[in-house]
Amino acid sequence: MSNPQQDLHGKKLNDHALRPESLMMSYGYRPHLSEGAIKSPIFQTSTFAFKSAEEGKAFFELAYGLRQREEDEEMGLIYSRHNNPDLEILEERLTLWDDAEEAAAFASGMAAISTTLLTFLRPGDAVLHSEPVYGGTDYFLKQILPQFGVRPVGFIAGSGQDGLIQALEQPGVAEQVTMLYIETPANPTNALVDIAAASALVRSKARRNILVAVDNTFLGPLWQHPLKFGADLVLYSATKYIGGHSDLIAGVTLGRHELMQQVKGMRTILGTATTPQTGWLLMRSLETLKLRMTAQMKSARYVADYLADHPKVEKVYYLGHLTEADTDYAVYRKQCLAPGGMISFQIVGGEKEAFRFLNALHLFHLAVSLGGTESLAEHPGAMTHSDVDPEERMEMGITPNMVRLSIGVEHPEDLIADLKQALAQV
Ligand SMILES: *Cc1c(COP(=O)(O)O)cnc(C)c1O
Repeated sequence: MSNPQQDLHGKKLNDHALRPESLMMSYGYRPHLSEGAIKSPIFQTSTFAFKSAEEGKAFFELAYGLRQREEDEEMGLIYSRHNNPDLEILEERLTLWDDAEEAAAFASGMAAISTTLLTFLRPGDAVLHSEPVYGGTDYFLKQILPQFGVRPVGFIAGSGQDGLIQALEQPGVAEQVTMLYIETPANPTNALVDIAAASALVRSKARRNILVAVDNTFLGPLWQHPLKFGADLVLYSATKYIGGHSDLIAGVTLGRHELMQQVKGMRTILGTATTPQTGWLLMRSLETLKLRMTAQMKSARYVADYLADHPKVEKVYYLGHLTEADTDYAVYRKQCLAPGGMISFQIVGGEKEAFRFLNALHLFHLAVSLGGTESLAEHPGAMTHSDVDPEERMEMGITPNMVRLSIGVEHPEDLIADLKQALAQV
């Protein structure tokens, strides 16, 4: 007799719906297929043996869309650029947090973003995008896509609907737009875009069908669920919170089956899927995702409160400090479940003072990236956003005295002690 617990493949226990964190150790994995191993092995293989030539033919017919899938037929394993058990289990688990139909894992956040945009954008299309966006995304939108005849049109996040309306009113945009690309909260200012309102506005003005894609790296997959607000596609740098230990590079795209089949087809041809080893590490990380993100979110509040009261700090950009006086407050209340673990602040002075502070830190590492177990500090103006046009940078609020913090899982009092001694040296 098999123990049904060891074969927990569904999302329910009788009628009781299980939460994602309860399923991260088991969902999508059947131990009896792997000698009873409680953890999935790393399927470190490039190719898979077919039981017969007929089976190989049937797998390829399905993979290349030459026939419809039979009821209960699963996609056969062919070659690790198409699929691999570690990636398939990982992808099933990733769908749970965002309540998505299907997921695809990639070699990096940029691999997920570039593969997804290349899947859906064609010459003559325009993509409306929030600003600022991650530096690599900014480069892909403004430098790469125009070489393929795709027009990027930016609007500033945190400007309510005004910026988006202006962008939509530019000549030709309403005719050309086929995608709305949103990054919210924006890096590094934590400015918000109202996903539902922006989607509705663009859908009402656009002459063609549009897809809404949201980079959910900063708050997801725990504290924000863009699919619930009308997004079609959710994107992640899994290098950040999902990986969470600063020891891997990976990305994810999620959405409905019909869209994800197209994304996966492009992934197979571009060869941008991640490896079995990284897939396995991400499964390890997902088991503690909620614990880590909850600890980071709680500590960030102590740190942000400390900074807000410090005489050498001019302004703190932290979602937990929004009040009814802020335009973003209503968006935050509607769209976000918690303020997350990212804080930016302006130090009294300029770049010199910001650098002196950064150089004096001991427990915080001076490094880019975010979402890992260790706390990080960086200077957006000179580092992550250094290739943004200086004038645009100031418009986005990225000033020379701005510092960005990613809060890890250390004790908040220890983090505050480090900030205190570093600020004292400015
Ligand atoms: C880091 C990051 C990316 C790029 O991800 P990689 O894994 O570094 O390729 C994209 N979007 C956001 C918001 C990021 O922070």
